[in-house]
Amino acid sequence: MNHKIAIIGSGPAALTAAIYTARAGLEPVLFASSITPGGELMNTTEVENFPGFPEGIQGPELMEKIQAQAERFGTQIRYEDVTELELSDARKVITTNSGKHEADAVIFATGSAYRKLNLEHEDRLSGHGVSWCATCDGFFFRDKTVAVIGGGDSAMEEATFLTRFAKKVYVIHRRGSLRASKIMQERAFSNEKIEFIWNSEITELHGDDALSAVTVGNLESGEHTRLKLDGLFIAIGNDPRTHLVHQQLELTKEGTIAVAGRSSHTSIPGVFAAGDVIDSKYRQAITAAGSGCAAALDAEHYLAENN
Ligand code: NAP
Repeated sequence: MNHKIAIIGSGPAALTAAIYTARAGLEPVLFASSITPGGELMNTTEVENFPGFPEGIQGPELMEKIQAQAERFGTQIRYEDVTELELSDARKVITTNSGKHEADAVIFATGSAYRKLNLEHEDRLSGHGVSWCATCDGFFFRDKTVAVIGGGDSAMEEATFLTRFAKKVYVIHRRGSLRASKIMQERAFSNEKIEFIWNSEITELHGDDALSAVTVGNLESGEHTRLKLDGLFIAIGNDPRTHLVHQQLELTKEGTIAVAGRSSHTSIPGVFAAGDVIDSKYRQAITAAGSGCAAALDAEHYLAENN
């Protein structure tokens, strides 16, 4: 079947694009994944910074509401994994486990994946002391002791942000110098709540119901020490999920999909990108939603001009 518009992804960017294109009468079909639809917010607990919810809202509930809003206007949601995309022709072909689907325009909003440490118990303790988002979860660590792992801008930003709440913030980094920009480094160095643990990695996570400690291995001396912690924030980078469009769409040096200016236009006409897949900087639910809105409007104009 040929659709006017297909949206790939199911986070705030994809679903906002669905709300807009559905309200524009474009009858979008949205391919959410078969196993983990809903995007990164499905992994968070309370979301307190999404406008419109003064009491806060659980991440999964927020995603349910945005999805319900998209469905209310006629978005067709298919819980299928897209395995291949052929984007170069005017009619785009989307292959999923159910077969081939065609669309005149595609909005690509597959988000990004936080890098993990790949340690035992990391998944189990996620949301129970282990987090990938200080702006989401930092508030829950008032007067607690936390650590951030990583040496880039994200780690410095998270560590500095966490000092608003935590009484002590360790930064554990695998080398003796940081990758972060000078200004972010200086901000962290001058903050007396932050203590750096250099040339070190985390080798074990401990805790039953919630994280209680980590084992830190010094990469120079080989010594291992146990560090009591209430929270661990993993900030070792994240990767935009672009594997479906490699070799087809132009990418930036950060690995995100290249778009023209502030628009969502990719290097192929009729293909639009939104959310974390084009954003290596802000990566918030609300900025992703705004980006999904822009992609919907760009796609709508494209379809009007090409029909
Ligand atoms: P990043 O720059 O890639 O830094 C990742 C850090 O994690 C590096 O220090 C790296 O160590 C470390 N790391 C990677 N894998 C690791 C592992 N398995 N175990 C332990 N440590 C590991 O990522 P980012 O900090 O998320 O930044 C991504 C982009 O966003 C950058 O371009 C950054 O400038 C930008 N950003 C900007 C701002 C801002 O300007 N406000 C804020 C956040 C992010 P090594 O240094 O040894 O490689």
